[in-house]
Amino acid sequence: MTIEAHQEKLSFQAEVKQLLDIVIHSLYSNKEIFLRELISNASDAIDKLRFEALSDPALNENQSTLTIHVSFDTETRTITIADNGIGMNRDEIMSNLGTIAKSGTRDFLSRLTGDQKSDSHLIGQFGVGFYSAFIVADKVTVKSRRAGLGKEHGVLWESSGDGEYMLANIEKESRGTEITLHLKQDEDDFLNDWRLRSIITKYSDHLGIPIMMPKLTEEGKRTEEWVTVNRATALWMLPKNQVTDDEYKAFYKHISHDFEDPLIWTQHKIEGGSVEYMCLLYIPSHAPFDMFQRDAHHGLKLYVQRVFIMDQLEQFLPNYLRFVRGVLDTTALPLNISREILQDHPMIPKLRAALVRHVLDLLDRLVKDEPEKYKIFWHAFGNVLKEGLAEDFTNRDRLASFLRFTSTTSLDEQSVSLKTYIERMKPTQKKIYYITADNLNAAKSSPHLEVFRKNNIEVLLLTDRIDEWVVGHLTEFEGKSLQSIIKGDLSLDEIESPILDKQEEEKKEKAQQEVFEPLLKKMQSILTKEVQTVRLSHRLIESPVCLVRDQMSMGPQMERLMKAAGQAVPETKPTLELNIDHKIVQQLQHEKDEKKLADWTHLLYEQALLAEGSALPDPAAFVQRLNQLWMLSF
Ligand code: ADP
Ligand code: MG
Repeated sequence: MTIEAHQEKLSFQAEVKQLLDIVIHSLYSNKEIFLRELISNASDAIDKLRFEALSDPALNENQSTLTIHVSFDTETRTITIADNGIGMNRDEIMSNLGTIAKSGTRDFLSRLTGDQKSDSHLIGQFGVGFYSAFIVADKVTVKSRRAGLGKEHGVLWESSGDGEYMLANIEKESRGTEITLHLKQDEDDFLNDWRLRSIITKYSDHLGIPIMMPKLTEEGKRTEEWVTVNRATALWMLPKNQVTDDEYKAFYKHISHDFEDPLIWTQHKIEGGSVEYMCLLYIPSHAPFDMFQRDAHHGLKLYVQRVFIMDQLEQFLPNYLRFVRGVLDTTALPLNISREILQDHPMIPKLRAALVRHVLDLLDRLVKDEPEKYKIFWHAFGNVLKEGLAEDFTNRDRLASFLRFTSTTSLDEQSVSLKTYIERMKPTQKKIYYITADNLNAAKSSPHLEVFRKNNIEVLLLTDRIDEWVVGHLTEFEGKSLQSIIKGDLSLDEIESPILDKQEEEKKEKAQQEVFEPLLKKMQSILTKEVQTVRLSHRLIESPVCLVRDQMSMGPQMERLMKAAGQAVPETKPTLELNIDHKIVQQLQHEKDEKKLADWTHLLYEQALLAEGSALPDPAAFVQRLNQLWMLSF
């Protein structure tokens, strides 16, 4: 035995220590996942071997049956999971089982809440699966040898999950990795054939690799013979009617590391066309924690003729569908394809278009047949899907049909589609009206809404950060243009009821315009720096003033976002609109004191800024003005 050879004690990276601490002390509500995680690693290792052996057949070492063996020993109180996959050399073991290489680790750790249930959800997603062994074990021993190296190149890794681990060189006859868990005091119920089998069938039934356990005698004694305990068929290969919903769900959990059931899935087998493929695509029921991170991982696994090639592929689905999980198995790509070649392979656009179509069809199905589930979908992924309006020109109309908004008619949740909106439009109404604001409160109390409310015209309330951007790319839907109610001149004939005599109205307006002309001029000269013009409003009922943007300008919400991001914002001045039916405005008409008029005018401008959620350029001056005018009233 050369176990002592090259033995050293090493410290875990700080993040690993932190993680282990959480695993050991908080993840006891869902203990059984350790087996799923270790089997999943064994299966990854076998996939890797299969793939590397394509170009280097010597790696098979005359042992091409690829299996995972799971066994337990009640005497030593251990469970062992062994695979004949790719294995690890000393360096690989050190970096794979001693550090967390992936970016965003700190982020992951900061998200842990101390609440076991939600934390255990995160752990699998983050791909720190190996450490889950310490949920049930107080000592873990790993023996591994990389495929293709001699038996003297085995490595032993051992740790009790405290700050350190031990490494040594060993001889290992068989290729691959063997992990032994020395169970904690109260974990004996895992030393049970039936228990282990049921966990395996629950999570790993449709792994394309046989998972074997020792055959037991009738008395429950272990024999030398091994039997396969999972179905070991690639699930996506089976006809739909041979797979139960539970099996689809379990497979989803296996590939996604998610604890919850998927929301819905779709499976396709396309043969005989220009591209042949099979795919099984899932939509999760909740968003992963890293969805809005730049390096958020994509969840598609690629197989070529049943051989696993790569995962976390970005080429096959656009960014706005990055929440989709699943597998693509195709004969349209060569087996020896690399990530680099994959970038510009001529088949990619075809496969990509097909997969996008499948996902959008699936969403259609949700909308039509399962509206409750669509709500869940929209809540979880609506903001991601919206990115598609800018990203995917070909599918823009379809994507627009999936949008859901709050509106002045449906305030409580995002449930109004553009189609519903159009169906509810007034007969005289030509446009789809919307307002963008930072939040629902700001949107629904905006002065710009007043005339719409009075005339019972529905307005969409857009309050997500991305919305301004969405409407920037979506200018019309089914022939109706989208119009911001805070932009441009509002045309009266669309708003006011058609019963009014149009000529009479115009005459009245002209007269008003003449009466207020001097005031408008004066105010404009007071606010030359701040506004483009001051004009009479058609939008206001209760408020004295509001600010209106140019039709083509970006709008206050977008301006704030860009400023916050440190971007240069083109200087455009808004227009100040006056409500001549308002007492304040009428009083102003008679104000003779120039200084007071200036103060009032500034105050009106400032309250219009506040009402749209913008910051005051000089808050102290505002307060001073307000107090001065207040004093006058005593
Ligand atoms: P992940 O599987 O998401 O990468 P894990 O914590 O489960 O994260 O595993 C960490 C790494 O350890 C794996 O990426 C792999 O490189 C290595 N590893 C774990 N188990 C095995 C195994 N049975 N055979 C070979 N490598 C393994
Ligand atoms: Mg893993």
